[in-house]
Amino acid sequence: MLGPYEGKVKELLDRMTTEEKLGQLQQLTWTGDTGPGGGQTEHTEAAARAGLLGSVLNIHGAGHTNALQRIAVEESRLGIPLLFGLDVIHGFWTTFPIPLAQAASFDPAVARLDAEVSAKETRSNGVRWTFSPMMDVTHEPRWGRIAESCGEDPYLNAAFAVAKVLGYQGSADGAELASEDRVAACAKHFVAYGGAEGGRDYNTVDVSEQRLRNLYLPPFKAALDAGAATVMAAFNTVGGVPAHGNAHTMNTVLKGEWGFEGFVVSDYTGVEELIAHGFAEDGADAARLALNAGVDMEMVSTNLADHGKELLADGRISTDRLDDAVARILRLKFALGLFDAPYTDESAAVDGPTPAARAAAREAGARSMVLLRNEGSVLPLSPDARSIAVVGPLADSTDLHGTWAGPGVYRFPSVSVLDAVRAAAPGADVIHAGQEVAEAVAAAEAAEVTVLVVGEPPALSGEAAVRSDIALPAGQEELIAAVAATGRPFAVVLLNGRPLTLGSWLDSAPAVLEAWHPGMEAGHAVADVLFGAVNPGGKLPVTFPRAVGQIPVYYNHENTGRPYRPEQPHEKYVSKYLDLSDGPRFPFGYGLSYTTFTTGEPELSRTGVAVDALERGETVEVSVAVTNTGELAGDEVVQLYVHDVAASIAQPVRRLRGFERVTLAPGESTTVRFRLGAEDLGFWTNDPAGTFTVEPGRVDVYAGTSSAARACRTLTVV
Ligand code: BGC
Repeated sequence: MLGPYEGKVKELLDRMTTEEKLGQLQQLTWTGDTGPGGGQTEHTEAAARAGLLGSVLNIHGAGHTNALQRIAVEESRLGIPLLFGLDVIHGFWTTFPIPLAQAASFDPAVARLDAEVSAKETRSNGVRWTFSPMMDVTHEPRWGRIAESCGEDPYLNAAFAVAKVLGYQGSADGAELASEDRVAACAKHFVAYGGAEGGRDYNTVDVSEQRLRNLYLPPFKAALDAGAATVMAAFNTVGGVPAHGNAHTMNTVLKGEWGFEGFVVSDYTGVEELIAHGFAEDGADAARLALNAGVDMEMVSTNLADHGKELLADGRISTDRLDDAVARILRLKFALGLFDAPYTDESAAVDGPTPAARAAAREAGARSMVLLRNEGSVLPLSPDARSIAVVGPLADSTDLHGTWAGPGVYRFPSVSVLDAVRAAAPGADVIHAGQEVAEAVAAAEAAEVTVLVVGEPPALSGEAAVRSDIALPAGQEELIAAVAATGRPFAVVLLNGRPLTLGSWLDSAPAVLEAWHPGMEAGHAVADVLFGAVNPGGKLPVTFPRAVGQIPVYYNHENTGRPYRPEQPHEKYVSKYLDLSDGPRFPFGYGLSYTTFTTGEPELSRTGVAVDALERGETVEVSVAVTNTGELAGDEVVQLYVHDVAASIAQPVRRLRGFERVTLAPGESTTVRFRLGAEDLGFWTNDPAGTFTVEPGRVDVYAGTSSAARACRTLTVV
């Protein structure tokens, strides 16, 4: 992708002083429009003027970026343009649902559209690089950043990461990077950040090579194959070595084995943090360790710029490595067209969400929702209802964008559920009550049906927003119990950024809709599903535990030597809790619909396949019939899982290897076809040099509508 610029890069490198080269590795903040910090702004401008700056984050608005760019291009000695970066995670102006919600759609087209809309809005506001997608597989619902990830499965994370990269960048070959509606992507956080102990942000991750390669690395490999231009290092340690100083993950795997030609940016002050990790003696040491391990650009802290010359002088870093890092950054600047067109047309800026973008966000929100429970006939609500109570602490909230929303969060409140219900049922008397129990009970008693809106305000998830207890926040369970005690029909809408432990109230709630943080069009998307304009078809991208004490609990675990056997539920010596029912509250891949579906047995195109045939690229086709057996049109996600029965490394009990969301009319059937190849049937071993193996033996192939699917056929690999 970046090959064509080698000549230009070399020519420029030859003209650069050591200070200017080190300057390209520096990224600073610009806080002029986003907070206090005029001093920082002047400092950033001075660095740009001196030609000692490569990139700036936390700036947007074509007027601002142009002004700063003009300093770099017109006032610095070599006129090298700056690269502006920003966290555009699920929308710039138009906030889409949080990434975890998008994953619940099991429809990567949702993520691609988010990325396309984001790219256009971001690029037209002067920023050509987003720090997204995040693809940290995690088994930790306490970790606040689960909201930003696509959950617990590497295959699902990979599919969404690819969709996002292609949406941002346009194509895998980088040919569209300079186009006016594209931005460069950043695959983050490299790597295993989601494994933080206890879910405590930034924490220790001690991971075996096989787990690193089978669980955490695959989404990154997929994102890079899709052309992701940059990678961001992670805050955690990996097997005792901080990711920012980890030559194994960055030099050996990323740049060596995978041949990554883009650049690695540190996370915010991540280079400096090597000192606090107890890995670097001081700033100079931190700079040496990070650069030599593979970090190319330093975000916010200034150790490479401050100490690079002395490190070069005494040979602790090499000119070759410095030139390599600079070349990687310059190549992307050329590929983005920054040298030819460093400025942004201020008259063409997209200044807010377009109606089409809003409609896309609304549809994405509705597609992301998961119906957890629907007993009786509360949902879908009738638009002819004469009275509807909309109660609960989040009923009238207009802050449902979710964590890491873009600049739009400050200008465009989200649509509340209350307003959306009013709009969807114009003939109904809509009664509102907040958190106050007596008022909510009175409203529920007065209305035909109640919508109870509870969950987490967005500040309870996201970076450093870790919870030790992931139940509904204080008072909300009591509120549900009080409404349930009225005996009147009600539906619970959950708005949250992570899986929650759903207490005993769950059994008393006739209907429960997991709506996550749906973004700017939140209320409309919720109402679309509540009233049945959209039949919910999302599935959980992450296991919902029964209790915090059960965490980690995830579908793709390994068996013990004494596995739980459903046919022997009273067996004593199995790995389970004395005080909990076995298994999670809701498994990965679970979700209901207003209609019903059946899926058939998975049918294999052949029952045996040779290892060498798989290695030559042959595949086994698996077909699964699915029928809408209910009365309404709706969506089902057909899911394919494999389990290698006996292997040289104990295998997860299930691994997702295919999914497809289909829409079927009542009575309609279709057949979904998947292909299993070497990539699906093999696994990475513990070899640090990277060995992927496909072993002979039996593989169970499961298909169905969640990770608990029972229908199975066995494939023999010979
Ligand atoms: C986060 C990154 C983010 C960066 C820049 C860090 O704290 O970990 O994900 O891209 O800040 O805002």
